[in-house]
Amino acid sequence: MRLPMDDPRVQLIGELNSEFRRAGSSFFRGWDITRHYTPEEVRAAEVFQLIIRSVFEPCGEMCGTEYDESLACRQCGAGSRQATDLQLEPESIPRRQLSVTIAGEIVISSRLVQAFQAHGITGAAFLPVRDPAGQVLEDWHQLVVTSSPVDLVPPTLVGMGPFDVDAKGQYRCPRGHVLGLNLLSEPWVKKESHDGSDLVRTRQLIGARMGVLHPHPLLLISPKLFQLLRELKLGRLTAEVAHWV
Ligand SMILES: [Zn+2]
Repeated sequence: MRLPMDDPRVQLIGELNSEFRRAGSSFFRGWDITRHYTPEEVRAAEVFQLIIRSVFEPCGEMCGTEYDESLACRQCGAGSRQATDLQLEPESIPRRQLSVTIAGEIVISSRLVQAFQAHGITGAAFLPVRDPAGQVLEDWHQLVVTSSPVDLVPPTLVGMGPFDVDAKGQYRCPRGHVLGLNLLSEPWVKKESHDGSDLVRTRQLIGARMGVLHPHPLLLISPKLFQLLRELKLGRLTAEVAHWV
């Protein structure tokens, strides 16, 4: 069922769900918030959040990529560093220009790398991707964000789900690295922390360290990069309006 957020039934679902949860159950199994924009809203936007919906596994760690956890936060796992080139099973990489592993490693096609370079897109670097035997994959690169991180600030809403802002802070790092499990609102980012790059990531992370999963930053893109991705008509990508404050 798809409902607008201001539909009174949304409130009702929230109330029913709290009742179900008190009984140890749940009223709904899953949720997703989608946002639609008018052409005017898109034209007026100064920054966008890039959401890569082409997600695949096995991720890097399952294919031999090594991570250095020595500096990672003990509470939330933030700060673990990729210590080797990204290794992936070539046949598991979707035939998309941009995809992301379940662990948050971003894979970009060599074709899209060329487009980024031809348009002078800033804030990105492209590292080799190898197969589990160590052979470089010519068609793919790992996209890494090289610009200064920007700060994700209120009124950005982060929580467990649409009716649960994680009041107890179960998924919030007390040291401020991870804000929570899911992003519930459009993101608001501090403009003074932006170095002007077309591609930036947030300093604060969303998600959780569970098995091979890592908490991940949000990706933000400039109107210039938004236009480029739109002109290239890439599938499985969503850009939502974000806000500088
Ligand atoms: Zn932490």
